[in-house]
Amino acid sequence: MGGDYDEMWRGLGLDLPAHERLLELLGGYYREVYLSQADRPRAMAYLDAVMADIHGGRVRELQAARAEGRKVVGTFCVFVPEELVLAAGAACVGLCAGAEVGFAEAERLLPRNTCPLVKSFFGFRLARLCPFMAACDLLVGETTCDGKKKAYELLADLAPTYVMEVPQAKRSADRALFREEVRRLAEALEALTGRRITAEGLARAVRLVNRRRRALQRLARLRGADPAPISGRDALLVNQVAFYDDPERFTGAVEALCDELEARVAAGRGVAPAGTPRLLVAGAPMAVPNWKVPHVVEGAGAVIVGEESCIGERHTRDLVDEAAADLDALLDALVDRYLRIDCACFTPNDDRLDHVVEMVRRTRADGVVHFALQFCQPYAIEAARVRDRLDREGIPMLRIETDYSMEDVDALATRIEAFVETLG
Ligand code: SF4
Ligand code: SF4
Repeated sequence: MGGDYDEMWRGLGLDLPAHERLLELLGGYYREVYLSQADRPRAMAYLDAVMADIHGGRVRELQAARAEGRKVVGTFCVFVPEELVLAAGAACVGLCAGAEVGFAEAERLLPRNTCPLVKSFFGFRLARLCPFMAACDLLVGETTCDGKKKAYELLADLAPTYVMEVPQAKRSADRALFREEVRRLAEALEALTGRRITAEGLARAVRLVNRRRRALQRLARLRGADPAPISGRDALLVNQVAFYDDPERFTGAVEALCDELEARVAAGRGVAPAGTPRLLVAGAPMAVPNWKVPHVVEGAGAVIVGEESCIGERHTRDLVDEAAADLDALLDALVDRYLRIDCACFTPNDDRLDHVVEMVRRTRADGVVHFALQFCQPYAIEAARVRDRLDREGIPMLRIETDYSMEDVDALATRIEAFVETLG
């Protein structure tokens, strides 16, 4: 991985030797998890190329845009409306990270028992390993879980950071609060870019992001076929890259992938034989390069047919209403769409239980792997309610809690293999 980007990375303040080691590690892991798969869709070549150039080509595009006066905004959560960022004329990149490099640096400031997702983005910043974060003119955090909320206070000492308040319930007063927060964010973005958010600009951004969501919804539907036309690992990768690739180009690549998968489905061709145990993964997001669980699950002889997660259907399930006529109505439509997100940070969060069951039925999954990151209380605690609901529906569930290290791979494999055997 990598390329001739040293000058750009140096200019962004990266620790070049440590960054080189990170790219080598990532390249080796990608070969093991991805390139070892047999009979992958040809259209995955686009994703392979993106990953081979992960810290290069897209960062260069963003830097070129910055040189022309465009701003770059980094986000950490699907609650920050990307449409507003685009409508203000900025580019948007998702910055969640899924590797434990940088944990030592992060743990100098954060308690060791902090969720790995938080430690990871923090560690990437402190260890000077993430060119995306370094290329951002503004980081936009949000008050979802406590770990993130407090980490953003520390992050603000390191980089320009704006925090958006997200309510924890969905009553009318909460909607009013979120509506005001969307307005406040719009103002902050206008101040950053010097460009007014207009109804036309916002409507254009809504259509663009909706197009990407529709392409990812099409991919999700195709995974309902048996045999499954694409592996869970590959589908997860597509959903991960959605957060930082150019939205227009990425949507075209996903549509091309779906065309190929449609032909595979019509021909009855799959990545595993028909009748292979099918699993839904539900819970916390898996950011690049957190491919551990899908790698273990599919190594255990099952195929993953859906992700009930923010790097998955929680990010793509709902569209913004495109019919809104003026700026106020468009902002209302954004608020309505974003408040349908069923993150475990909300209480009550019964919609999520319905969505898990709906996904199991639609993807024809035989069971659910509930995934929580270590020290993530919202998802770890909510797992009990998911289990209750799935028990009542007669759907088997395996509950796992893990981090970004590889130390528990064998133990996870043993538990997942035993679970898969019970499904046969
Ligand atoms: S799980 Fe919750 S906090 Fe995390 S990205 Fe999703 S909505 Fe945001
Ligand atoms: S996985 Fe859990 S603890 Fe970690 S950032 Fe998301 S909601 Fe917070």
